Amino acid sequence: MEKVDQSIKEYIKENIRTVNDFPKKGIQFKDITTLLQDKRALELTSYMLSKPFRHHNIDCVVGLESRGFLFGTNLAMDLNAGFVPVRKPGKLPAASISETYALEYGEDSVELHKDAIPENARVLIHDDLIATGGTAAAATRLVKRLGGEVVGYSFIIELSFLEGRKMLEDSTQIESILIE
Ligand code: AMP
Repeated sequence: MEKVDQSIKEYIKENIRTVNDFPKKGIQFKDITTLLQDKRALELTSYMLSKPFRHHNIDCVVGLESRGFLFGTNLAMDLNAGFVPVRKPGKLPAASISETYALEYGEDSVELHKDAIPENARVLIHDDLIATGGTAAAATRLVKRLGGEVVGYSFIIELSFLEGRKMLEDSTQIESILIE
């Protein structure tokens, strides 16, 4: 890795706050509000997110609710692509499709507008963080049901001990700025 990328990563890492026991005991929550409020960290994070995908001819960036929206539209603009939100149930106003995924206790679902992804569109899925990979995997199923092709995944932070990567498509490029 280039030396300059390493120092950028260190700066990004320094600007993410870890909050212990939020939203429940035992969780180390990665808070990116501190990253967003620092103008240099904001710019460097945007740069690092788009860098690996500049030459991938991405048509749509699919951002996952809700923190995947914060950098998602900017990432789309940097890649000359459109932005599509994947939302929690009941939030999208027009006809939508839904996918359910398992949580530690119980299940959750995510939704996508039926007309959001053109047939054969080249899609990049983005979120702030990948933990178990359940959310990104459900988003992948949504995109594929509409005929889109998932060509990559983009995260700021990857919690590697949860092995979320294993839930994602083998053949795609998975990029995380920070792997913890
Ligand atoms: P998962 O489906 O398990 O990969 O969880 C990913 C989603 O949960 C992302 O939208 C994250 O924003 C959120 N998330 C999970 N764990 C954390 C954490 N430790 N800190 C911040 N966000 C988290």
